[in-house]
Amino acid sequence: MGAASIEKKENRFIQELISPSDKLVIDAVREFVNQEIAPIRREIEESAIGDFVLIDKVRKKLLSLGLQGGSLPEEYGGMGLTSALTLSVIAEELARGDASLFCAPAGEARAMRPAVLAENKDVLEQFAPGFLTEDEACVGCFAMTEPSGGSNIENVDLKGVGIDTRAELDGDQWVINGSKMWSIDSGTADVFCVVCNTDPSLGDDGIALIYMEVPTEGFHYGGFEDKAGLRATREGEFRLDNVRVPREWRAAGPGRDAQLLYDNVVFSRILNGAWAIGCAQGALDEVLSFTSDRPAAGKPIRQHTIAANMLADIAIGIQVGRDSYVNAAYIYDRPETYGPGYSRHMLSRSSIAKIFCCDAAVKATNLAMELMGSYGYVTDYPVEKYWRDAKTIQLWDGGAQLGRLDVVRGYYEYDQFHKNELYEAIRERS
Ligand SMILES: Cc1cc2nc3c(=O)[nH]c(=O)nc-3n(C[C@H](O)[C@H](O)[C@H](O)COP(=O)(O)OP(=O)(O)OC[C@H]3O[C@@H](n4cnc5c(N)ncnc54)[C@H](O)[C@@H]3O)c2cc1C
Repeated sequence: MGAASIEKKENRFIQELISPSDKLVIDAVREFVNQEIAPIRREIEESAIGDFVLIDKVRKKLLSLGLQGGSLPEEYGGMGLTSALTLSVIAEELARGDASLFCAPAGEARAMRPAVLAENKDVLEQFAPGFLTEDEACVGCFAMTEPSGGSNIENVDLKGVGIDTRAELDGDQWVINGSKMWSIDSGTADVFCVVCNTDPSLGDDGIALIYMEVPTEGFHYGGFEDKAGLRATREGEFRLDNVRVPREWRAAGPGRDAQLLYDNVVFSRILNGAWAIGCAQGALDEVLSFTSDRPAAGKPIRQHTIAANMLADIAIGIQVGRDSYVNAAYIYDRPETYGPGYSRHMLSRSSIAKIFCCDAAVKATNLAMELMGSYGYVTDYPVEKYWRDAKTIQLWDGGAQLGRLDVVRGYYEYDQFHKNELYEAIRERS
């Protein structure tokens, strides 16, 4: 019997695109996943429906690996790790272990990124130290989605009118009212970047990204979500009733905050691509091993042509998906050459990467499950978990439908409010 896989892992990426430090990070996280995560995957999921104690322990280990607090500037004690490519390769490796463990680094990066890009000293001085405390490191949350919908907030055509959370200035303070739901780690976070609107009639200028810490007066939790996958993170609804924060805790100001919101959407979609590919790679590793050992009709399953075809489809999706997220991350990291992260071009490129990778990962985990028969569907093997986790990543951040609209925005002025004269004439006649 041959080895489960003879793939040359070091050639997964165009080596010239990956910096020497990123290669070290990939190796360190891969080792961490193999040693510390893979053996306790099931216990982590059980802890998620229990007391979360094991999850907190594992998250502390992420801190010691430098994966928490890494996105903060060096002068505040962080690692200045703002590269989408670096975070993406970390996302892929961690997701191979347990995709929900990437939620803490992603939540922190997404929450703190607007303040980092805007160089908001007040926010960074206030919150950065908490993320770097050894014992009880802060958890960050980027709170955008509301009960009335998530896609409407990300939809660049709607220019903030989908944001019902209101922020009004009262002297030196913002007074915030509204409800948010679904945000990663909203149930456990200490620092929130809340997407608000100061005045819907202002369009993008009304969008405001405002920081707050929890607990704070006027912040109330609703219930927590019981999800199919991505379990080691707790999302829930929360209500803000006249929450007051200093006016300096707005990320930047009118216009710039909208750019920072759209930039965060692009950044997240690139990470989503890598995150999904990690799930698919984990499923491929598992199914290559399973089908090399288990025989069907007298030979290992993977030696049947039909199975080899299915394995080829999984591998194609993973490698093309990986190429696409690496490409998108590489150009996102170079705004001086390729334009700003919030541009329609980058929105399109990041959406291409997210959609392709998520579709490939959902298909790959599904095929892996079929190749393993009943064994793919039970928790003794991690394939059913990769399948549940990949599906979540496909659904969030605007889903596959808004994402496709965003793809075409890079090619023509797509306008969902485009006037339909024929339709209006028919309506008038009837
Ligand atoms: C595990 C998990 C973690 C999450 N983490 C976060 C987080 O950290 N922060 C955060 O703010 N949110 C988070 N979300 C929310 C997530 O981003 C939203 O669920 C997502 O944006 C979709 O919003 P929605 O569920 O309200 O669906 P809706 O916006 O109601 O969309 C429903 C459907 O309509 C489609 N659709 C939407 N707009 C259009 C359109 N214009 N044309 C055609 N079709 C359209 C969508 O693609 C989707 O298929 C998370 C969700 C999950 C499940």
